[in-house]
Amino acid sequence: MADSSSFQRLQHQIALVTGGSSGIGAGVAKAMAAEGATVIVNYAHSAEEAQEVVAAITEKGGKAVAIKADVSKEDEVLAMFDQIREQFQTLHILVNNSGIQQDSTFLEMTLEKWQKVIDVNLTGQFLCAREAAREFVRRGPQPDVSKATGKIICMSSVHEVIPWAGHVNYATSKGGIMQLMKSMAQELAPHKIRVNSIGPGAIKTPINHEAWETPEAAEKLLTLIPYGRIGEPQDIGDVAVWLASDEADYVTGTTIFADGGMTLYPGFADNG
Ligand code: NAD
Repeated sequence: MADSSSFQRLQHQIALVTGGSSGIGAGVAKAMAAEGATVIVNYAHSAEEAQEVVAAITEKGGKAVAIKADVSKEDEVLAMFDQIREQFQTLHILVNNSGIQQDSTFLEMTLEKWQKVIDVNLTGQFLCAREAAREFVRRGPQPDVSKATGKIICMSSVHEVIPWAGHVNYATSKGGIMQLMKSMAQELAPHKIRVNSIGPGAIKTPINHEAWETPEAAEKLLTLIPYGRIGEPQDIGDVAVWLASDEADYVTGTTIFADGGMTLYPGFADNG
């Protein structure tokens, strides 16, 4: 937590982090609060988990509240934005982070599993980004708060570019997020709204616990990570803070991979 007397990069800004109640979202929420943002911790299911994140932030002198909404449901997203305007007047930063995996081989993939992952991971990001962009345009510039009128950060994945057998619904949702992000960035730039993605590699969170919680699994996973360590939510929180800050004011329409080199085709390091 930054000293309250020192410069904080997100001071006087309101940030919504979807799925902020666990994993990467919780890491981003804490990192943004430490930089002075008032953070809205969105959650879909566990109010208790969301309140733990809020408490962790407020205990350190930060500002946070929890708001429930299923990002795949338009009426719930609209109600969440109404509540944000009522409580905080506006929004400056959206972190489109909510995401799920429902794995299956391609041959066994049901329409239900396909649709559920697309609904949460892709349609959820569309709905929240549209409402955030509408709010940014309605409010207009606030140059004393931030150079950009609004900032949208989409949580993508290395699977935006790396195909993933057994996870076609997830990989498709992340590939879709790339074009969603870039098309929004192109269209919204004249409004001084910046849109970018973060592509995490393997980060220790509940979504992929099977991939890192035993020593054997972690060892196998590390063969995919040239940098030699599995990532932590804070690694992504740090990138999100920078992307949302004025230090990144000329950055829009790009994905920053924070993956310890997972996108460097590590299989070719000694085999080409
Ligand atoms: P996680 O399971 O801890 O977090 C996912 C969050 O999304 C949870 O807070 C969950 O409650 C929320 N969520 C699920 N369905 C929702 C819905 N319908 N509405 C609102 N919120 C909903 O896992 P995580 O690893 O922290 O995942 C966060 C994001 O990071 C996801 O988009 C995921 O695809 C992405 N990601 C994670 C990794 C990794 O290695 N952990 C790698 C690449 C990308």
